[in-house]
Amino acid sequence: MRLMAARQQIVDYGLKMVTSGLTTGSGGNLSILDVDSDLIAIGPSGIEYAAVNVEDVVIVDRLGQIVEGKWKPSSELSFHLALYRKRPEITAVVHTHSVYATTIACLNWEIPAVHYLVAFSGDKVPLAPYATFGSDELATSVGDHIGNYNALLLANHGLVAIGTDIDSAFNVAEEIELVARIYYQTKLIGQPVLVAADEMERVVDKFTSYGQQDGES
Ligand code: 13P
Ligand code: ZN
Repeated sequence: MRLMAARQQIVDYGLKMVTSGLTTGSGGNLSILDVDSDLIAIGPSGIEYAAVNVEDVVIVDRLGQIVEGKWKPSSELSFHLALYRKRPEITAVVHTHSVYATTIACLNWEIPAVHYLVAFSGDKVPLAPYATFGSDELATSVGDHIGNYNALLLANHGLVAIGTDIDSAFNVAEEIELVARIYYQTKLIGQPVLVAADEMERVVDKFTSYGQQDGES
């Protein structure tokens, strides 16, 4: 089987999506672009994460043609492909139906800079208008609305997060879910005070060197 490491990560991070409360059943999906082969590993459609093994992961090319796999790939394959086209630096896409992000998406709102951690996405989390799940219209819209952000709300649907590896894409999904929850809670009891635009610029810039950088000791 090809892309064994990526297959294993699809299995592991799928389970992590469930245990972290970011999704339930077979909701959401994950993919990883293997730079060496230029192939993409993506989860099978409609199979709950707990039942997915490495051999169930589907390998496709950048056009979505199946290279290896016995199942249909995720119904959202076309928006994963659109994101790899739009953002050549990314190698992972995580899509969730996490409850608080999806709540904001069902209001058809964006998530503003209610907390500095929104910088995991950028100065906000933008919103793509509603389109049917798995449709070409949704794929086009996702490609058109991601811009330079690392997260995007899908109206009446959920959240998409991207990253230079699966760990960072997952992390974006998790942190944006926290910010969505905070936003929701502030709206319940008052009017959130947003972080100013110039401060968000500083934070987004600071995030590029946050944590342990490669080569630093
Ligand atoms: P798949 O099971 O086909 O990946 O679909 C889940 C989903 O979240 C559709 O938007
Ligand atoms: Zn979905």
